[in-house]
Amino acid sequence: MSTSGIDMGGHDDTTAPPALFANRLKVYAKAVQGPVRRIKWALLVVMLGVYYILPWIRWDRGPGRPDQALLLDLEGRRGYFFNLEIWPDEIYYLAGLLIFGAVLLFLVTSLYGRLWCGYACPQTVWTDLFMWVERKIEGDRAERIRRDKAALSFDKAWRKVAKHGAWVLIAAATGGAWIMYYRDAPTVTVEILTGQASATVYSMFALFTITTYTLAGWAREQVCTYMCPWPRFQAAMLDDQTVTVTYQAWRGEPRGKYRKGESFDLRGDCVDCTQCVQVCPTGIDIRDGIQLECINCGLCVDACNNVMDKLHRPSALITWDTFANQTALAKGEQPRHMKIIRPRTLIYAGLIVVLGAVMMTAMLTRTRVDATVIRDRAPLFVTLSDGSIRNGYTLKITNRRPEGSEFAVTVDGPEGLVASVHTPDGRELPADNVEVRGDTQGALRMFIAMPRKAIPEEQTPIDVHIRNLTTGEEASVATVFVAPPSGGDRTQRVNSVAPVQVP
Ligand code: SF4
Ligand code: SF4
Repeated sequence: MSTSGIDMGGHDDTTAPPALFANRLKVYAKAVQGPVRRIKWALLVVMLGVYYILPWIRWDRGPGRPDQALLLDLEGRRGYFFNLEIWPDEIYYLAGLLIFGAVLLFLVTSLYGRLWCGYACPQTVWTDLFMWVERKIEGDRAERIRRDKAALSFDKAWRKVAKHGAWVLIAAATGGAWIMYYRDAPTVTVEILTGQASATVYSMFALFTITTYTLAGWAREQVCTYMCPWPRFQAAMLDDQTVTVTYQAWRGEPRGKYRKGESFDLRGDCVDCTQCVQVCPTGIDIRDGIQLECINCGLCVDACNNVMDKLHRPSALITWDTFANQTALAKGEQPRHMKIIRPRTLIYAGLIVVLGAVMMTAMLTRTRVDATVIRDRAPLFVTLSDGSIRNGYTLKITNRRPEGSEFAVTVDGPEGLVASVHTPDGRELPADNVEVRGDTQGALRMFIAMPRKAIPEEQTPIDVHIRNLTTGEEASVATVFVAPPSGGDRTQRVNSVAPVQVP
């Protein structure tokens, strides 16, 4: 007797305390043929192909620059996506892309249920691949069940070893490919294979290999049912107009075993063959209605259609349909077409349009120059020998272009303002021609002086403008010029901290 309240024969033990944990019932998904299965195979090949091939695509960015089309260079702190180069301070582009993707997923889910889960989620794709390998080596469902129940034999042992060996190889290829998105693919491949990669690379490689092997080989449907948060809140996107995989109970019931030649007049079309259950990768019975475990893969549609074909009954006993239409059909009413335009789909579509427009505008108006101005805090100002007041600033010019550029630095402020730009070691530079190397951030010193009579207030707003002399790209930064309180003895405050509030 188990302590779970269920004995090993599967009978309830009502005298035992309720179980806190139920053992997993292993799912032996059966192979199925049909149009849905073919679409899933095609998508699997495309998605795995994209994943494995993408890091190997080259993209010429000029000498000394990475030539990998898609690269997240963590050491160089750059993201490369074909012609697009993302700097760390532009991470909001990535955040925007993720938000855009999430809202798009909301829209698709509200229209067609868990299409993502059934067809495009990496967990589904890799599990499908691992199951295919399992079938090739250990046979289909019945053979696997029989072999798993049998005592250990040479036949059983070599098949298990071969299956896990193949899984580890696929997992290693997956983990290795993941590293290639962060390091130059040809280089890191040679390094890994010749033992020259860093400990970090080997650790990440091992981590992603083990993760793939565990999630796709062992955990499988448990990832979708217990680990993934998406099934929990995707219900909030569904309504009676959402198309989901549905068992047409009004047509299938009363179900029952079928004997050849029997009439279907006084019974439903479901012959209780359980083919729909046997092919289900999550091991559920779609005839019980919409369930959290259902990933909307549609394999049960293929399975049931094959059965209906053999029985010469109409297909689509299990099909994609809306709850509203099913309710109408069950009452004998006219079919109801799905309403695509609904408040929730309008909201999601509107958000997608707005987000897309914002991202597109940000992308098109993006400049390759940026500037930061940090005003000195100690001292806040100094009084020069001629009585004028001077503030010091650190000026950082970011030149995101690969080639070096000359920049003009100008300052907008009250009449009489004089600005000068210096190297960090004090050498003055011509403010109308400051050179910054390509792909770097140049740190400079900037001094702004004003005759004290020209200073209108203790904290005077000023604007610093940077312009690339070659491309004309500009950046502006607002800052302040700090002076002592009016009427104070300014000459007494040379090199001292002024008694003004720090903005
Ligand atoms: S495959 Fe079709 S006929 Fe067979 S049990 Fe499932 S719903 Fe019924
Ligand atoms: S019930 Fe059908 S659609 Fe849902 S997961 Fe199982 S096979 Fe896929």
